[in-house]
Amino acid sequence: VIGAPLLVIDGLTVRYGGVTAVDGVSLEVHAGEIAALIGPNGAGKTTAIDAVSGFAAAEGSVRLDGRELGGLKPHQRVRAGLGRTFQAIELYDDLSVAENVTVGLTAQGRATAGGDPVREVLALLGLTGFAERPAGSLSQGQRQLVSIARAVIGRPRMLLLDEPAAGLDSTESLWLGERLRAIRDSGITILLVEHDMGLVLGLCDRVHVLNFGGLIASGSPEEIRADPAVSSAYLGSF
Ligand code: ATP
Repeated sequence: VIGAPLLVIDGLTVRYGGVTAVDGVSLEVHAGEIAALIGPNGAGKTTAIDAVSGFAAAEGSVRLDGRELGGLKPHQRVRAGLGRTFQAIELYDDLSVAENVTVGLTAQGRATAGGDPVREVLALLGLTGFAERPAGSLSQGQRQLVSIARAVIGRPRMLLLDEPAAGLDSTESLWLGERLRAIRDSGITILLVEHDMGLVLGLCDRVHVLNFGGLIASGSPEEIRADPAVSSAYLGSF
């Protein structure tokens, strides 16, 4: 069930020297949604989620459930309920999958409501059988799932994912989509940056399209598929 706006981004702008990487972007992600931020290479997608999560200095406003996050450090945004993953996955290769996920629990600095959060999150991501395996022995797809588990274990309200399907084949990508639905159904709203159009159009409730730092379209997968401005932005980039 799609609820009220949870993440509200208003006039978000990031400048690197003379380059405006994100240019006055305004969008809303509603509670219970899986939303995507897409766009050609260099469009500003990663910079936008860096700005939302506090890793890039930005102008404009970012609110989570009405609370202004602007000016907060990344770890303070995590405590406010904003989780994220990174494009370059860093795991502790010599530690087990369960230990890698536990790192996320400590990092969130939040009390847990009893139970066994590591076991629960591994089950949610379909990683139960891998709990004791060293992270260094995993495939790229499994590493993606572990990095997502590490963010999910802190029970963020809003989860930002940077290219979760990078390096996955089409079977792994379908499986990832199933796991992302399960995460959403567990009460976590998701915004993903992604190049895999099959995954995005099949999974997401709403899609936002960036081009040269600016938002050029927002809509359902059907609307985005039919939008001429989106097709022309992608011309020559695939
Ligand atoms: P991709 O799909 O290739 O990952 P993207 O849409 O995520 O691309 P960004 O990585 O956000 O795009 O880059 C947007 C623009 O900002 C690009 O022109 C890029 O060169 C520039 N940029 C990004 N990070 C920096 C930085 N730290 N310093 C200077 N310029 C940067």
